[in-house]
Amino acid sequence: MMKQQILAMIGLTALSGCASVSAVSPEHEKLPAASRTLDMFKSDNEQCYDRQRMGETFVVDAHNHFRPFGGAAKSMPEINQYLLDTGVLFVNVFGIGQSLPVTSTCEYYLDCVGTPALPSMKNDFVNAVNYLDVDPEGTVMTLSMTFPDLANPENVVEQIKIMDKEYPNMFTWMGEVNMVKQALFGNGHAATPKEKIAKWAPFMKVLRERDIPISIHSDLGNDADPYKYAYLMDEALRLYPDNKIVWVHMGLSKELSHANPDKHIAYMQNVLDRSPNLMLDITWRVINDNYFADPKMRKKYVAFLEKNSGRILPGTDFVASHKKSYAVYRNEVLANSDIFKDLSNKAFRNIALGQNYFNITGMNYIAPQICR
Ligand SMILES: [Zn+2]
Repeated sequence: MMKQQILAMIGLTALSGCASVSAVSPEHEKLPAASRTLDMFKSDNEQCYDRQRMGETFVVDAHNHFRPFGGAAKSMPEINQYLLDTGVLFVNVFGIGQSLPVTSTCEYYLDCVGTPALPSMKNDFVNAVNYLDVDPEGTVMTLSMTFPDLANPENVVEQIKIMDKEYPNMFTWMGEVNMVKQALFGNGHAATPKEKIAKWAPFMKVLRERDIPISIHSDLGNDADPYKYAYLMDEALRLYPDNKIVWVHMGLSKELSHANPDKHIAYMQNVLDRSPNLMLDITWRVINDNYFADPKMRKKYVAFLEKNSGRILPGTDFVASHKKSYAVYRNEVLANSDIFKDLSNKAFRNIALGQNYFNITGMNYIAPQICR
């Protein structure tokens, strides 16, 4: 399987100089959105966006891990090409909140239960070094601090100072950080104790002063007890109402793949209504496959996205392990964008065309108007 993928990639590279080649298999083709350019998102752009012609996939990947759990990573130039070929022009460059020890031969934490998988500054350094070396063209990359250990927050400000010294003003996002991630329970991670959340105060203050959003992974619960950990995000939102918090995956996970959609939506609506600075990230194909792909549930979630179209961020939750290929990323873009086909122009522009992302980051870009 691996060899075939590699051969396919090599084949693609060898053929890419030929304009009339039709031998590229569909999974290696560029998406229609690849015709987008950054100029279309500048304030003086007058070209409207044609959903039929330029595709209905997102332009922002607000959740992309450029570092794998262990083992080798994809190079930044290769990922940048994936982005360009799928029309993803804005991306959050996450490290990984659960890196395996360098002495481990594991490449995926679930393959090595018992091996600790903990946050580390290594990933963020490597991303910054790569970014400076590569200077990626055609895309806008937002570097993110992934190192904080939310259960042991005492050193986070100190660590931010180290980043400031080495890479001043380069990191403008924080996360994905794990408050509770059940998938990691076998690898030395446990739910953050509730009383530790108050100890985030010093670093949350730094984030507020710098207007930096924080993406938090916090499982709502599991299929046996769907709201088991809901109290954790409640506490974070209660203590830090003025921070820009992004709740990733809307609290859903593989462990919570059968939540009652009516209850889940009502719960999320209530949280959004009482937390004006909260945004939801609807990334990870697990959500599409278990919720949005079902026609009945999809209708309900489309209504939810419409109602809250200013509060939603899109993306893949891709993990750039050397085992992945362009075809994998392309599939993740397609799966995670599928529900956008059903959105109104207004919601599509806010979510998929990046207006929410430009608002939360304060970037000097604007989503184009949709062609009538
Ligand atoms: Zn993630």
